[in-house]
Amino acid sequence: MQKTPVVTIIGSINMDLITTCSRIPEQGETIIGERFETAPGGKGANQAIAAARLGADVNFIGRTGEDYIGRELFAYLEESRIAGLYVKTVPGVSTGTASILLTNDDNRIIVAAGANAYVTPDYIDQHLDILKQSDVVLMAFEIPPETIIHTAQKCREYELPLIINPAPALNMPEELWEMADYITPNEKEAAQLFTAAEEKIQQKLITTLGAKGAQWREGDLIKSHPGFNSRVQDTTGAGDTFNGAFAMMTAKGKSIEEAVAFANAAASISVEKMGAQTGMPAYEEVQKKMM
Ligand code: ADP
Repeated sequence: MQKTPVVTIIGSINMDLITTCSRIPEQGETIIGERFETAPGGKGANQAIAAARLGADVNFIGRTGEDYIGRELFAYLEESRIAGLYVKTVPGVSTGTASILLTNDDNRIIVAAGANAYVTPDYIDQHLDILKQSDVVLMAFEIPPETIIHTAQKCREYELPLIINPAPALNMPEELWEMADYITPNEKEAAQLFTAAEEKIQQKLITTLGAKGAQWREGDLIKSHPGFNSRVQDTTGAGDTFNGAFAMMTAKGKSIEEAVAFANAAASISVEKMGAQTGMPAYEEVQKKMM
């Protein structure tokens, strides 16, 4: 039997505070919303849960604050079939939150880092044994930049495949892009960060295109997979599902083409339910969608 792929994700844990409204308020304006709900989120935790549901052995390294939100999120992660949970509480600090405004066709998000700011290079150094055992490492940008660079350096040292999901779009030293094997922006992030990037960086990009799937380069060729139709409810976390799924397929040694098709299918299922994590599919559901 094939070995279960080990995906290590270093990233954020947030509680999503979601208000659904008919439109986004103007500056200085107050409107009456339609609904409020909370949902576990944070790009790191989302990606970890996406990969775990798909059957990967996931190690997750992150931090929560000393509050009821942190306790709730930790309990939720514990229930989520994550093989290795390395989440220490930061005393006297709040857990990360994402305040989300959701309308029929739009979402606006503000993230307050809280305990995620304490995922430091030192904290990573306490978990190097975990890192070394990974088939692939995945990081997004809701943790401190110095931690991302430090971890990328460790990945190079240990020769571990590294996926960088540059979300939200932050300017990073060129060195980081050079250390990554794959870089997975959405269209907006790609436009903000990579329009003027060097050719060798362009070759690493896998750009997600919302309902239109994803594209990447192979030499001079632009390759793409058109994505899958879905009955969209909430696209929050679509990119995270894509990344978790792509990481799992990469850890299995699949080609970009196969990994992207699978990730598109997984993400297209995830957008059919409210909340970032609720709709994340199991492996068999993705296979069925691809048939
Ligand atoms: P992000 O969620 O990071 O903004 P995208 O909007 O590009 O990223 O979506 C990521 C992936 O989710 C896409 O590549 C696609 O596979 C899937 N996806 C997003 N929106 C839809 C949709 N409306 N229908 C089907 N698949 C979608």
